[in-house]
Amino acid sequence: MQKKFIMAGVMGWPIEHSRSPTIHNYWIKEHNINGAYGHFPVQPNHLEAAIDGLRALGLAGCNITIPHKVAAMKHVDWVDPKAQRIGAINTIVCKPDGMLCGFNHDGFGYIQSLYEAQPTWHASAGPVVMLGAGGASRSILVSLLDSGASEIRLLNRTQSKADELAAEFGPLVTAYPWSELNDTIEDCKLLVNTTSLGMQGQAPLEIDLSNLKSDALVSDIIYAPLETPLLAAAKARGNTTVNGLGMLLHQARPAFEAWFGVLPDVSQKLRNVVIASF
Ligand code: NAP
Repeated sequence: MQKKFIMAGVMGWPIEHSRSPTIHNYWIKEHNINGAYGHFPVQPNHLEAAIDGLRALGLAGCNITIPHKVAAMKHVDWVDPKAQRIGAINTIVCKPDGMLCGFNHDGFGYIQSLYEAQPTWHASAGPVVMLGAGGASRSILVSLLDSGASEIRLLNRTQSKADELAAEFGPLVTAYPWSELNDTIEDCKLLVNTTSLGMQGQAPLEIDLSNLKSDALVSDIIYAPLETPLLAAAKARGNTTVNGLGMLLHQARPAFEAWFGVLPDVSQKLRNVVIASF
């Protein structure tokens, strides 16, 4: 008997740049699944109809990306508690009864990428310095707290946004002025850049790493380029570095499992395929 055809995709606007189809279609082929994963260009005023259409078309679900991650929450029937704390979803799973469930796996992907780079890493090892208070930072903040982080120092160009996050997420998160960047990293065990500084076409992050201890892990969630000026400088000093590709690949795994029934691996071959697509 012909296996059921399973269809999923990613909704965003614009969407052509998304690497999610490359990742999911690689796994579909690897696991010999009868299915496909597509790009869905969805304008903001069509979001509700597009999400409702998942049910009507019998899709397994979809990923949600910029600019829809926050707005999509109100168009699903149920939102996972972690995604509620993050305030955004990046995955919708259509249940057999037609119920639409929203999840956010970005923070999971980030934490997995750290374990991959340093299997002994643990969130409670010491202070975390987090740069940025945008959409991506919320998922990382929640996941670091859930993983046992004992102190998170948050710095953002617009300090009011860091203050708001610190007030929302409680006493383990403290906002610092951007001007204190070089001092706050002195005793940190993890430095993470979640700003867009260092991205292709953007100015680099200006930071003096001379105060940073050699055992601090330095991560940048940017994946284009794979090695940002921050990571190049940290690597030159001997710090272990983690780029944003691992987060991008690992966040896709739980969604793939929910739709296609297999928890896939992140192999070097998949990495090479995705890198070749940049
Ligand atoms: P966002 O919501 O627009 O937030 C952007 C952040 O960057 C804000 O904190 C913003 O500070 C800061 N920023 C922008 N320009 C700046 C400048 N000139 N100086 C100082 N700070 C500046 O974006 P996002 O969705 O969080 O994404 C941020 C980065 O993460 C992007 O590069 C994106 O590609 C990457 N990302 C990677 C993954 C992955 O899977 N690896 C997933 C999601 C995002 P203000 O608040 O002051 O504006």
